[in-house]
Amino acid sequence: MTAPTSSPDTHAQQPCIHCGDCARACPDALNPEALFFALVQDDFAAVRAARLDACSECNRCVEVCPSHIPLLDWFRWGKSESHERARAAGARARFLARNARLARERAGRAARRREMPAAAALPAQTISHAEVLAAIARGKARRREKRP
Ligand code: SF4
Ligand code: SF4
Repeated sequence: MTAPTSSPDTHAQQPCIHCGDCARACPDALNPEALFFALVQDDFAAVRAARLDACSECNRCVEVCPSHIPLLDWFRWGKSESHERARAAGARARFLARNARLARERAGRAARRREMPAAAALPAQTISHAEVLAAIARGKARRREKRP
């Protein structure tokens, strides 16, 4: 969604003359002029501070504005943009938190590996193949002697 650029009515849009009519007309006690300039300047901290979300989109500020500024178009765009930016910021925060968690887990595994004692050395091979065969032969001979 792109920011509004021109007046939706047949009157040509003029610069804001700071008359204050929009603020006096707003049933939600907002300052549409301040909201408008915050949006034009892409200052979403100021947009939040000016409580754009409280705008009920009644259109009264547009009806009274002598400069025919499409305030409501700006406010609708601002709400959409604000939600989109909050969603993107949330996704980025979750991505960074996940990366940090994975890095912590990797560091923990590496530390545990460093703390593990070295594997005990395997005993050296002390019996030869010939000795194994001889032991098998002795076992067979003993079994044969025991047979009735
Ligand atoms: S459209 Fe929003 S800012 Fe304009 S008068 Fe209505 S509530 Fe107030
Ligand atoms: S009514 Fe229009 S010209 Fe007057 S202060 Fe509000 S935005 Fe500006």
